[in-house]
Parts: sequence; structure tokens; C-alpha cells
Amino acid sequence: MRACARNVVKSLESFEGVTDVSMLRALPMVAVLFLAGITSALADSSNRPWMNTALDPDKRAALVVAEMTREEKQGLVFAYFGTDAPWKKFTASPDARAGSAGYVPGIARLGIPAQWATDAGLGVATQGGAKEKRERTALPSGLATAATWDPELAKRAGAMIGAEARASGFNVMLAGSVNLVREPRNGRNFEYAGEDPLLAGVMVGAQISGIESNHIISTIKHFALNDQETDRNTANVIIDRDQARMSDLLAFQIAIEHSDPGSVMCSYNKVWGDHACESAWLLTDLLRGDWGWRGYVMSDWGATHSTAKAARAGLDQQSGYPFDDQPYFGELLLKAVAKGELEEARLNGMVTRILRTLFAKGVIDHPVSIQPIDLKANAQVSRAGAEQGAVLLKNQGILPLTHKVARIAVIGGYADKGVLAGGGSSLVYPAGGNAVPGLDPTSWPGPIMYYPSSPLRAIQALAPNSQVRFESGRDRNAAARLAAASDVALVFVTQWTGESVDKPLTLPDEQDALVSAVVSANPRTVVIIEAGGAVFMPWADKVGGILHAWYPGTSGGEAIANLLFGVVNPSGHLPISLPGNESQFARASLEEKDAQGRKTLEVNYKEGATVGYKWFDAKNQKPLFPFGFGLSYTEFSYAGLQARLDGQDLVVKFEVRNTGAADGRDVPQVYVSPVAGGWEAPKRLAGWRKVELKRGAGTLVELRVDPRLLGFYREADKGWRIAPGSYRVMLGHSAADLPLEASITLPERRVPAGSSR
Ligand code: BGC
Repeated sequence: MRACARNVVKSLESFEGVTDVSMLRALPMVAVLFLAGITSALADSSNRPWMNTALDPDKRAALVVAEMTREEKQGLVFAYFGTDAPWKKFTASPDARAGSAGYVPGIARLGIPAQWATDAGLGVATQGGAKEKRERTALPSGLATAATWDPELAKRAGAMIGAEARASGFNVMLAGSVNLVREPRNGRNFEYAGEDPLLAGVMVGAQISGIESNHIISTIKHFALNDQETDRNTANVIIDRDQARMSDLLAFQIAIEHSDPGSVMCSYNKVWGDHACESAWLLTDLLRGDWGWRGYVMSDWGATHSTAKAARAGLDQQSGYPFDDQPYFGELLLKAVAKGELEEARLNGMVTRILRTLFAKGVIDHPVSIQPIDLKANAQVSRAGAEQGAVLLKNQGILPLTHKVARIAVIGGYADKGVLAGGGSSLVYPAGGNAVPGLDPTSWPGPIMYYPSSPLRAIQALAPNSQVRFESGRDRNAAARLAAASDVALVFVTQWTGESVDKPLTLPDEQDALVSAVVSANPRTVVIIEAGGAVFMPWADKVGGILHAWYPGTSGGEAIANLLFGVVNPSGHLPISLPGNESQFARASLEEKDAQGRKTLEVNYKEGATVGYKWFDAKNQKPLFPFGFGLSYTEFSYAGLQARLDGQDLVVKFEVRNTGAADGRDVPQVYVSPVAGGWEAPKRLAGWRKVELKRGAGTLVELRVDPRLLGFYREADKGWRIAPGSYRVMLGHSAADLPLEASITLPERRVPAGSSR
């Protein structure tokens, strides 16, 4: 009977694409026999008390575990790569989703489905080595979503990509990237959500909630302190632990509180000498102990380095075999348990956490199946993110463009073809294919991908009576000539970044010289940036306008055109500070050397929690553009700032008014600062609200401040302490523009390590 049920479930898995009854008619006799078996499988389910949805997930998991053989348990903690890896002589299981990141076989006799895992936070990706690529909707980059400062939008975006994952047959999405943008050169910054722990935590938490609303698991990553790609597999991160709790770890903690993700992915790097996936401090003391999180930990692909040490530290699932050199949680785990090197109880705990999560997130009660996807509708979700995430950095009266502009020059950045995407495991392949195929690198972490959403075509569509001409930018003189003969020049500059490589912030391929040539020919020049994060802008003073569009996703071309023409009023605000030059970096080099000049493989985050705008403030430096900054085609003013205590909580209230001539969205930001000083930086972001206001309209905003942002974490106290005394509460448009101020006296307060109050 058990073997029969296993076959039935297997056959159902492979027939899940069959949704049309007429297709069922065409099934051969053997399939009919399989379907006949379903009846007995269903009958069998009455013998599976864990399928009773009235029981809580803990009980249900315990009931299954009690039925499992040791081999079955081991099977759940060991995940395979879902794509062939010829360099390892590995062929993926035919039951994996083709070209995917991960696969754990199900246990049919117990009704436990396979775990099918896909990357990532920007949509359903396909592995570069896959023969066929899934065509799916790409969101704008993580930084673009963070730049919306709109958690509701992030949630909708998450719900959309989660629905695509589900409809593609995946029940695990490796999404929720919340490493802090601590290092501006990090090639993966585009996947992340900025430099501030509150902003990053809230935005990524919202995205995860959206993804998991589809009854699938979202995996927050990369835990922790994987803030650069240089030496990512070997680097040993050293940071003051209290400072880590107030920066990178706080971003994770807040995102986890907001979303309770089913899974956490431990990262490649070491932390304080231990591999992150072997760090009991991270995986057990913090995650499970202090934060009380109840999901399961999976390793990054190739980040498992041992059996007993990793399992005891709190790793529950080895991912992506054969990325690791050994099947640590495969046959080696069975051997370790047999020899008594790893307690069976520990294995039970690992399996219980995985099963409990599958029940708690609805993965078992709502099996995934392959369904049609409405790419057109989803493209609108992506476009909304690109439109609200792009940041207008400068505008000297050129934008929005009007229909009266007779001659428009569009220059560079393959703007005739499409918009750039970031590289690596998060790359989503679009409908219509790569608009600029063949650029180097064409393989990992490439291919360099341009989504076929051409800004040029979108601009032409919005300006049907204007003469819109294009120059590639390869010939600077030709570009300058076109600019001189036009009423406005729109120069697109791009920087491709990707997983596993860090990048300097200077634009490649002499694009700075291109911008200078164009602006010398026509001062009415607007630069549109498509980049992973910060880039240097030596021409910033000269040009008439700058729009940072990040990697704007599947519909980026239309989004950019809508912003340039004011069809949509820009409302993005920077989730990172944009430095002017290298001297403003916290660390000069990505590699550290000892006194003898030898590379140490240590990464010392001596700046601790003094990240981003906090670093600029502490060093009294002015960035090129500050954190939180972003212009609009209208104006907003603030009034009536009040700070008061509600019980122990600081509550801030103020009025926002749209005083300009257009409808728009604004992001009023509240920062706090202790009058006596003593923090890692003069001030911290304490809250914000994205508001939408018709011209002339106003609204009252009330914010309750997370007490951790008013305190200091100390390991010795096992929590946060808010020092009694006087605090400044500042309200404004960015970290560098805070026109309103109130003061408040706070009593001493303590907040335990795992709490937000
Ligand atoms: C990345 C992860 C990703 C995994 C699976 C790794 O290289 O660091 O973010 O989820 O691959 O593709």
C-alpha cells in the first residue's frame, strides 16, 4: 500500500501540469490506472493524522516525525541543486523543476511534498546553466523597491513574484535579501534594501509577507554580515557584536519580526572565525534564542562545511549539493548518527523544524501546481515599483519634459533596446529574451541582461510629435553633435554589477567623458542612471538633471519615460548615501593586509554600526547626495512637529502638505539624536511615512518609534538600554535636510534582546 501511494503521489507530481480535462481524456491506460490509485491514496490519508488541519503545526510535525525512518529524516535535511552541474559531473533529478536552484525529494508514503526552490528576490530566476529559461516578471532591483519607502508596495511586489513562483511549481523562494549596504562596491547591493536597518528590515519584511501569502516559504538571506563579494567564501568578518546587533543583525531582526519567514539562509563568509553556517552564536543563540524564531536554517549553495559541527550550531538543511565538497547532511550525516557523533535527537529537531514550517506556511495543505501566469498584469506591478523607486536627484527646470520639446536626443546605455539588470543567481529571464545579447561576461555571473523595454520607444510613444533621435554613445563627437542639434539631451549611463564580484564606482567605458561631451554641447542634459547602487558622478554639477533608475526591471523603459514626462511624479528617495569619491568610504580597500603586506582574509568592520549616513555624519563629511534624498515635480512642507510619550513609547506627530502645483507622493522622515551624544553616530532614522497627496492637500502623520532606535545594545545587559535624558526629534526631507525639530525627555528603559518593546 505504501509503495502504491508513493507511486500515486509521484504520478500526480508529474501530471500536475494537466489542468485541461480534454488532456486527461488523452491519457494512456497506464495513467488511468494511476488515477484509480488516487482513491486509495485519499483513503490512506485518513491514516495520516498529521493531515488534520485543525491540529497546530507543532503537533502535526511531531506526528510525522514519529513515523519516519532515519533515512527519511536524513532525506529532508539534504537538498540537491535543481540544475545539471557538469563541472561536478552532477545530473539534476528529473523530479526537480528544470533549471532551478534546489530540490529536496518528497516522502510520498507520508504525503510530504518535495521542496522545489527558486531564486530570488526580484522574481522567478533561472540558473544560468539551464538549457531553457523560464520567462518571468522581473521586479526592479531591491534597492529600487527600498527607494519607494513604501512597505505596501513591497508587499504587493512580493505577492506577485510569490504567485509566479507558485504557478511555476515552486514552494520555496530564496528571497528576502537584507544584508546592509555597508560597502558601496558590493556587487550584490542591487539585491539588498539599503544602508539603514529600520528601512531595510521593514521593506524586506513586507516583501517576505507578500511572498508567503502564496502558501510558500520565503528564505531571508544571507545571514549574516555577507556585505561584500570579494573573498566571500573565505573572508572572516570581525565586528563588535553589540554594534552588529545595532546594524546588520537589526535589519534581519526587524524583517523577521515583520514577516516570520519560514527559512533563513546562512551565508558563505565566516563571522568571528566560524563559518556563518557553523556559528552557534548566529544560528542558535540569536535566531532561536534571543529572537525566538521557529523556522529552519538552510545553507547558501556551497556554504556547508561539516556535519556534526554545523548541525549542532543550528543548520537544518544543506543546500544545493554538489556545491559543497561533501554530502555533509547526506550519507555523512547517516554515518555520524550511526557512530554517535551526532545525536538522533538533533536530527529529529532539524526535521521537525522543516516539517513544522511546511505545515505552518501552508505548503502541505496547499500543494503547488503549474498554472498559467499573466505576465502582462504582473508587468504593471513591476512598473509601479520602478516608477516609485526611481530617484530624481537633480532638476534645473528641465523636467518634466513637455510635448513642446521639438527635438529630443536619446544617447547611450542601449536605451534603444532596453534596460539593464543585475547579474548572478537572482537574474530573471524576461519574455522576449535579452535585448542586447552577447555582451561580456556571457556566463556566470552573466549574462549581461537588458530587458526588452526600450526607453527610446517609450519616449517616442509619449512624444509622438517630437523628433526623437538616438546615438549609441560609442562615438562621443556624434553624440555631442546630436545633443547640440536638440532641445534636450537624455543620456543613459549604465553600470552592470553582479553576484561574486565587487565593482569600483566609476562608470565603465568612458561614460563620464560621454556625459561631459554631451553637456558641453547642450547644458539641457539629463542623465539617467541604471546601476546596482552608488556611482560617482563627476559631471553632477554641470548637468541639468539626474534620475537614478537603479535596475528598473521588466517594464523599466516605460517607467523611465513616464517619469521624464511627468505621467508619474517621481517619489523615490535614496535608501543609500551616494559618496562623491573613494576618500569617503569607510574602508579604503576590500582586502586587508597584515604588517608584512600579506593578505589576511579578515574583513574588519571597524566602523561597527556607523554605516552609511551615520558614517558621513560621524566624520562630518558631505556625500554627493544624502540618504533619504529625492526630488518631486511638486513641493511638500511640514509643520506642527510634536513629540510625546505614550506610556513608554515615543510618538511623533506632524502635518505634511503638498504646496506645489502637481499631485504627488512624499516621504517625510523622522530622525532622533541624544543631546548627550554617545551613539555610534549623531543620529538615526526613527520612522517615516509614504504619503500620497493631491496638490494643496495635507495630512496628519503619527509615528511610534521603535525603542531600539533610541537605545544602545549591550551583550552584558542581554538587551537594549535607553539612557534617560533629553533627545532631539528631527523631521525633514533627507538625512541632510531636517528643518523641524522638537525635544523630548525620555526615562530610562530596557528592551530585552528579542523584543521590540
Ligand atoms: C547565492 C544565493 C542563491 C543560491 C542559489 C548562491 O550563489 O548566494 O543567494 O539563493 O546561490 O542559487
